[in-house]
Amino acid sequence: MKTIETLLRDNIKKLVPYSSARDEFKGEGKVFLDANENSFGDPFIDSNTSYNRYPDPHQKKLKTKIAAIKNINTQNIFLGNGSDEAIDILFRAFCNPAIDNVIIVPPTYGMYEVSANINDVAIKKVLLNTEFQLDVPAILSSIDDRTKLIFLCSPNNPTGNSLNRKDIEQILNAFSGIVVLDEAYIDFSFQKSFSQDLFAYPNLVVLQTLSKAYGLAALRVGMAFASRDIINVFNKIKPPYNINAASQQIALDALNETELNKKRVMEIISQRNFLVAEVKRLAFVKKVFNSDANFILLRVDDANELYKYLSQNFIVVRNRSSVVLCVGCLRITVGTPEENILLINTLAKYKK
Ligand SMILES: *Cc1c(COP(=O)(O)O)cnc(C)c1O
Repeated sequence: MKTIETLLRDNIKKLVPYSSARDEFKGEGKVFLDANENSFGDPFIDSNTSYNRYPDPHQKKLKTKIAAIKNINTQNIFLGNGSDEAIDILFRAFCNPAIDNVIIVPPTYGMYEVSANINDVAIKKVLLNTEFQLDVPAILSSIDDRTKLIFLCSPNNPTGNSLNRKDIEQILNAFSGIVVLDEAYIDFSFQKSFSQDLFAYPNLVVLQTLSKAYGLAALRVGMAFASRDIINVFNKIKPPYNINAASQQIALDALNETELNKKRVMEIISQRNFLVAEVKRLAFVKKVFNSDANFILLRVDDANELYKYLSQNFIVVRNRSSVVLCVGCLRITVGTPEENILLINTLAKYKK
């Protein structure tokens, strides 16, 4: 393991971060004339909420809530405008364009590759094996001294399976750069999150999100959990007000709905099991992959044709058949019970 300082790009090491008005004044104020806000208020005169002031750049209330739910210290939490912001910041912090490289393990989430391309960072691809598990020896042997990040996703998108914990640990122990473990779907899984292992692995960044299990995709709130050294880097680079006030407030309210949130996740898991059992009975379904996520991946006789048939019936799924190792595969998100029954009934009528 190299220190975070030695992994950082030089420009980031030297960076003097933006200091916001809210950062510079720490005491108790009554009249705020320091940030060029509109002191008259927002246009929603009768509303209880007001949006004329800049939001808390450190998202203290929301982080305190997340810290309690996830059993993580607030100082080990970064909140981003979606996980995508955290991914982009990792590239900008650690990867010198046209010099450094990262490892990704397809088939996986497309954003790692896009973000690498945007930042002009080379990508080494080490395919998952046919069980959709990590090829650890191949990953380790493709590391060179310019490899800064390794992206792993568990449960993986689009395959749905969890990666073997021992394999992830092996990479964490062997790699001297940063391992990014994307746990966007962890709430639908019975696997243990790595978020409780930050002390053991100072080079680990765990990504989670409010977009899936918490039903808040539109708010754009992603989370990164990591050592304080890495979180400090995120905070240095992020735009000062990266989570807007409405998102902070609504996310806080939503996270207070503890029972409803738990119940929903359990319902999604039980609907996933229902879908798996139902699609397995269809003759044109060749394989249904095990899923620890809120979607299933299935291999069918003619994925393009089935995709077209479903869209003609106004059911939109994701055609993954052009993705490596996913030939002939569709990815289907778990819907409500009514939506799932409609899907199954529509599939049952296919080619009949
Ligand atoms: C959906 C998803 C995310 C979530 O991204 P947000 O920007 O937080 O909405 C992250 N990683 C993976 C693998 C996903 O599928």
